[in-house]
Amino acid sequence: MRDCPEQRVISGVRVVTPVKVLSGASITINKNYFVEIEGSEDPIAGEKEDWLIPGLIDTHVHGAGGADIMDARMDSLFQVAQTLLKLGTTAFLAATMTVDERQLAKGLKTVNSFIRLFQDIDDKETAAAQHKLNGIRYTAECLGIHLEGPFISGRFSGAQKSVYIQEPSVSLLNQFQAWSGNNIRILTLAPELVGCENVIVESIRLGIIPSAGHSAANWLEAQQAKSWGIKHITHGFNAMRGLHHREPGLIGMALADEEIAVEIIADLVHIHQCILDILYRLKGADRLILISDGMRALGMPAGEYELSGQSVRVSQGEARLTDGSLAGSVASLLDGVKTMIFRVGIPIPDAVRMASLIPARLLGIEKRTGSLEKSKEATFLRLDPDWNLKEVWVCGNNIPIK
Ligand SMILES: [Zn+2]
Repeated sequence: MRDCPEQRVISGVRVVTPVKVLSGASITINKNYFVEIEGSEDPIAGEKEDWLIPGLIDTHVHGAGGADIMDARMDSLFQVAQTLLKLGTTAFLAATMTVDERQLAKGLKTVNSFIRLFQDIDDKETAAAQHKLNGIRYTAECLGIHLEGPFISGRFSGAQKSVYIQEPSVSLLNQFQAWSGNNIRILTLAPELVGCENVIVESIRLGIIPSAGHSAANWLEAQQAKSWGIKHITHGFNAMRGLHHREPGLIGMALADEEIAVEIIADLVHIHQCILDILYRLKGADRLILISDGMRALGMPAGEYELSGQSVRVSQGEARLTDGSLAGSVASLLDGVKTMIFRVGIPIPDAVRMASLIPARLLGIEKRTGSLEKSKEATFLRLDPDWNLKEVWVCGNNIPIK
């Protein structure tokens, strides 16, 4: 982390805190951190002011800027992380795909090297390290890995390749975690598969959040999964049974149980806006986590792309395999926040919190980041009055994004 050269003050803005909007507000940054945030709660006062919101945290993103995590190359990881930052996502979990084991090993090891590169630089104050840092500092922070599969259901594999699905295995999980350098933070699995109980228990022991998804679980199986420790659902409503009045399934369990947190893709392609509204009313902002599930065409023009060896056509905001299956999204996390505010109509602090403080809490980093609050890292976005991204600040540094 680099120190800011001097104390900075930004004033005459609207600041979105976890619970309210401050108008005519000012923030003071010193040594990478917020030291003062103040403003009034009069909504009319700030009508023409810019917005400051926390840097967004995406716990499920596969690619961006033409590159994919599963390219398993350092230059691809830089491309993804740089593109995400320019789109307002300041931190992310690199999501993997269900692929053959050799490629998965390579992917996990590459993400580990990428994360370590930054840790090494943080540890060293040498001129050489600083020089290296100047070349790479304009990237979103990779917080670890979201391992999506391979212990998933063939019936709900979505864009994951079913030939590479594996039977749940504790030893395989340990192998994956070793390849990743202990960087797996979330594991998506289908809890109804034989052997998942042990994998869920082991993942919790390893500090990995087990998340039910790409799953055919019925309501009873979902209840059982909860008793084993499942408290998180991967892209709710997508790649699982629909909600049925006689068989509520995994999503029914998640909607009814207030302890369960649900990831949602708010691009209006994966989920109808009516369902987004229902999710918000039932779960509230503290149990919803906005994700992009972005793939390599995120931040790129429409056209033909590739996803783990499968061809994907991107047009009119949709990414689909040739068989018509959805293949991730091309909407940024900031787009998702705007959809929740302007299309679904939920309060601004709630929509922002679902893509910042809530994922930060999930990953246990809420003390240092995730909201505009005193003594946290000064990582935030400046948006114009119409919510267009103008500036991205990371730890008190205004990062060039054009
Ligand atoms: Zn995904």
